[in-house]
Amino acid sequence: MKIAIFGAGVAGLSAAIELVDRGHTVEIYEKRKVLGGKVSVWKDSDGDSIESGLHIVFGGYTQLQQYLKRVGAEDNYQWKEHSLIYAEPDGKQSVFRKANLPSPWAEVVGGMQTDILSIWDKFSLVKGLYPAITGNEEYFRSQDYMTYSEWHRSKGASEHSLQRLWRAISLAMNFIEPNVISARPMITIFKYFGTDHASTKFAFFRKNPGESMIEPMRQYIQSKGGRIFVDAKLKSFELNSDETIQHAQLQDGHKIEADAYISALPVHNVKKILPTEWLAHKYFRNLFEFVGSPVANCQLWFDRKITDTDNLMFSQGTTFATFADVSLTCPGDFQKGMGTADGGSVMSLVLAPAHQLMDMPNEVITRLVLKEIHERFPLSRQATLLKSTIVKIPQSVYKAVPDVDQFRPDQISPVKNFFLAGDYTYQRYLASMEGAALSGKQVAEKLLSRFGN
Ligand SMILES: Cc1cc2nc3c(=O)[nH]c(=O)nc-3n(C[C@H](O)[C@H](O)[C@H](O)COP(=O)(O)OP(=O)(O)OC[C@H]3O[C@@H](n4cnc5c(N)ncnc54)[C@H](O)[C@@H]3O)c2cc1C
Repeated sequence: MKIAIFGAGVAGLSAAIELVDRGHTVEIYEKRKVLGGKVSVWKDSDGDSIESGLHIVFGGYTQLQQYLKRVGAEDNYQWKEHSLIYAEPDGKQSVFRKANLPSPWAEVVGGMQTDILSIWDKFSLVKGLYPAITGNEEYFRSQDYMTYSEWHRSKGASEHSLQRLWRAISLAMNFIEPNVISARPMITIFKYFGTDHASTKFAFFRKNPGESMIEPMRQYIQSKGGRIFVDAKLKSFELNSDETIQHAQLQDGHKIEADAYISALPVHNVKKILPTEWLAHKYFRNLFEFVGSPVANCQLWFDRKITDTDNLMFSQGTTFATFADVSLTCPGDFQKGMGTADGGSVMSLVLAPAHQLMDMPNEVITRLVLKEIHERFPLSRQATLLKSTIVKIPQSVYKAVPDVDQFRPDQISPVKNFFLAGDYTYQRYLASMEGAALSGKQVAEKLLSRFGN
C-alpha cells in the first residue's frame, strides 16, 4: 500500500516505522523544516541546541523504548538516580528517594524517609491514596468527572501534600494546576508510582531528543525506503462522493494521492483541515472538545556551574515547574569547546502554568526566571548569564480536564481511508512521547487490518 502520513512528530514517525517495516510505501509530509514536533530541537547560530521542551523518558515507556531499540538508539539515553528532587530556596533540596526494595516497599520506605512531607502528610497520604494504589482502569475512568484537588480532598489527604508534592507533578504532567487537571491521570500515575518500581525511573537523552531519538528514527525510515518531505503543509482534502479522500492538497499546491491517509497532526491543527462533510460524524465533532495547554521552555546559559545535580528537578512557587541542568544530564550535547557554555550550566526549564506568559515579552519572563534561579541556586548569583532563549507553545498537549477523556478518538475514523494518530488519540497513556508512540503503533495495525493486510 501507499500511505501518506501528515506530521513528523513522534506519532507520525512511529507509524512510519511500523509501516515501512511491513514493506509498505510511506511518505511523510511535515509543515516545518525540522522534524520531531513538540520534541524538535534545532541549532542556533552559536551551535547551541534549542529545544521545544525538556523531555524525560520514563521506565514505563515500553513502546517508545522498543522503537528506540529498533532504530539503533537504545544507548542514546541515560538513567538517573531514582528520586524526586525539589529545589528549595537558598540551595536546599528536599528529596523523595525510592528505597532499593520491591514495590510497594520501595515507595513506603522512601516516603517515610522523605523530608518533603510531615508525619501527618505521610499518614494522610497512605490512607488517602489507597484507592488509587489498589484501583483498576475502570475505577480510574469512573473518577474522570472531578479534578484532582477535589479527589485528593475527598479522600482526606492533607492540603500540604497537595501543594508540596502533587502540584508539581500535575504541572509536570500536563502543565496545568491540580484544581484544573482531572483526577483520572493523576491517580493512574499513583498506581504506577506505588506499584511498579521500574516504571517511574527517569532517563535523559544523551545529546537531546532531536539528535538522540528523532534523527535515528528519520534515518531508519529512509533506509527502508520511506520518503520524508519538510516544508510540506497539509492544507485540505478533496473528497470522493462517498466522503473518502480522493487526494490531499498541500499549501504549496502539490496534490498527494495514496491508498490511505494518516493525520499525525496535533488536535488543534486537525480541526483546521477537516472537510465540512465529515462534521456530520460525532467522531470528528468530538475533536472540538480538546483545548491545548499553553507551555513555554526557557534555556539559560551560564559561564560556570550553578548546580551539581545531574537529574530532573521540581520546584514550587516559581515560574518553572520542572527543570534540569542539561549540561550535566545530557553530556553528549556539551563537548568542550563547543557552543556557548564552555563548562557552564545550561538550565532548561519548563514554565507552567503558562497562560499568563504567552503575551509577556521574553525579556520580562527571562528576568522573572533568573530572579527565581538566583533564589534557588546561590552559586548563580556570581555567575554571568551568557545567553537565554524562550520557546512558547500556546497549544501544546491537550488539557486533561474532567470529562474530556471520553472524547479521545480511536485511530480508525468513519472515513474508510482516513486515520488519526497523535498523543491525544485513544491509548492508555496521557499525552506524552509514549502516548504518541503507542498511537503510531495502533494506527498502523488498525489501518492494515481495515485493508485486510
Ligand atoms: C515543553 C514540553 C515538555 C514535554 N515533556 C515531556 C516529557 O518529559 N516526557 C514526555 O513523554 N512527553 C513530554 N512532552 C509531551 C510530548 O512532547 C508530546 O506528547 C509528543 O511529543 C506529541 O507527539 P505527537 O506526534 O502526537 O504531536 P507533535 O509532536 O505535535 O507532532 C505533530 C507534527 O505535525 C506537524 N503539523 C502540524 N500541522 C501540520 C500540517 N498542516 N501539515 C503537516 N504537518 C503539520 C507539526 O509541525 C508537528 O511536527 C512535553 C511537551 C512539551 C511541549
